Amino acid sequence: MIIVLFGPPGCGKGTQASIIASNINVPHLSTGDMLREAVKSKTETGLKAASIMEEGNLVSDDIVISIINDRIGKNDCRNGFILDGFPRTLSQAEELDSMLIEEKLKVDLVLEFSVNDEVLISRIEGRFSCGDCGLGYNDYTKLPLKEGICDQCGSSNFIRRKDDNRETVTKRLEAYSKDTLPLLPYYREKQVLYSIDGLADIDVVSNELMTLIKKWDRYRWLECKGEYNRDLRTILFKKWK
Ligand code: ADP
Repeated sequence: MIIVLFGPPGCGKGTQASIIASNINVPHLSTGDMLREAVKSKTETGLKAASIMEEGNLVSDDIVISIINDRIGKNDCRNGFILDGFPRTLSQAEELDSMLIEEKLKVDLVLEFSVNDEVLISRIEGRFSCGDCGLGYNDYTKLPLKEGICDQCGSSNFIRRKDDNRETVTKRLEAYSKDTLPLLPYYREKQVLYSIDGLADIDVVSNELMTLIKKWDRYRWLECKGEYNRDLRTILFKKWK
């Protein structure tokens, strides 16, 4: 199953991507994480991307397309994957489709998170994570139970992303409206787009997403067997945009 998580910075895509990925046992591919890794290891790509990311602009299509192309060719992606932060432009979406068509595959579900901008800005400004185990926190909504100590691994090495400040966030939101939102009609036309309320609690969102994924899986399974299940289709497509 190939799933795209779609939404502005700070909408919760990353959190949900790791929950779903571990539930359905497919890799979580985040272009943001891959680029940050490249910046950290000072690879050629990392050196090109660093200042662009710090300013809140989009890295060039060529770079991210080639990263994704390499990654989805790996063995662990054979049963599907979850894309988080890719595609972000129309040409990335079209390139993704051509890569998949070569393997007789296609994007199965695009899950859109809707959230308003003010909430996004405070979510992003407040977020930080454990530099050792990666667990996420937030100044406003989720502080460690013991001040300065990670709940999960006991480390006191907390980190904040360089691009998580008000000025850069505003730029990232502008890039989202200008370059990424135009992808919605593209996926709507393909009838794979499903919208959820990104403001709901983490558990509520992940339950809704898992329910949808299971229904979708069953629908496809019945379809493969040549059985058309009208009720299931109605339930499934009720919330399609
Ligand atoms: P967020 O969703 O919070 O903006 P990400 O971790 O997805 O964070 O991305 C961080 C930065 O990495 C982006 O602002 C952009 O510079 C770069 N980036 C990530 N994915 C892409 C992409 N598909 N196309 C272009 N740039 C990207």
